[in-house]
Amino acid sequence: MESIERIKQDIVTFAEEKKEEFEQTSSYIFAHPELAFHEYKSQAALCDLLEKYGFKVTKGVGSLETAFEAVYDSGKPGKTVALMGEYDCLPEIGHGCGHNLIGTSAAGGGIVLKEIMEKYDIGGVLKVLGTPAEEKGSGKAIMLKEGVFEGINAALLMHPSSNSVPDDISFASVAIEFTFHGKPAHAAACPWKGANALSGVQLMFHAVDMMRLHMKDYSRVHGIITEGGVAHNTVTDEAKAVFNIRALEYDYMMELVE
Ligand SMILES: [Zn+2]
Repeated sequence: MESIERIKQDIVTFAEEKKEEFEQTSSYIFAHPELAFHEYKSQAALCDLLEKYGFKVTKGVGSLETAFEAVYDSGKPGKTVALMGEYDCLPEIGHGCGHNLIGTSAAGGGIVLKEIMEKYDIGGVLKVLGTPAEEKGSGKAIMLKEGVFEGINAALLMHPSSNSVPDDISFASVAIEFTFHGKPAHAAACPWKGANALSGVQLMFHAVDMMRLHMKDYSRVHGIITEGGVAHNTVTDEAKAVFNIRALEYDYMMELVE
């Protein structure tokens, strides 16, 4: 086996050679922002790039039309490693979160590593997985349920940031909508006949704030009121709030959900 330093140097060299092409793909995705589950142009751009460099590409994986799987099989025994790429944008903002860079990094990283595997005769299977709908809809969770990650020993993803770190914390996360039902009444003529659903929502926000004192480190509970009534002179009979609940561990997150 060649020295790891030599291989690292080759990775840099191969990446530099294709830098412009990768940047073009990233810029194209940035200029054509697509919302979760509608990432057709971004999917095509990344799949074209991977196909050009010899990956076997399948567009559409399981129930997700805008997912893709690109495979390089060395034909020799070894581990199966996947690089994951996202490419959906934020509503009204576009690629504010840099998913154009994530998708292109996965494809570019795969292309460079395939060359390394070939040059140094490294066994195993390398996959680039296009994982849609990160901003909303949890594409990866759907792919996990549908068995796409079966047989994969390690899966990696990079997310752009202001600094370079090999690892960072990530949260288990769930979004829940709460609906409060009350009883309508005119708020001036006979408010005593009503029951205010908005009061329930307000109370919930206060209760959550009181609970924060007792939550473990790295817990996050944050929400908005999505429906607080339609007329201010009536007692609100239906009100809604949406909360995100996050924790480092899934089990503790579920305790918070409870
Ligand atoms: Zn993001």
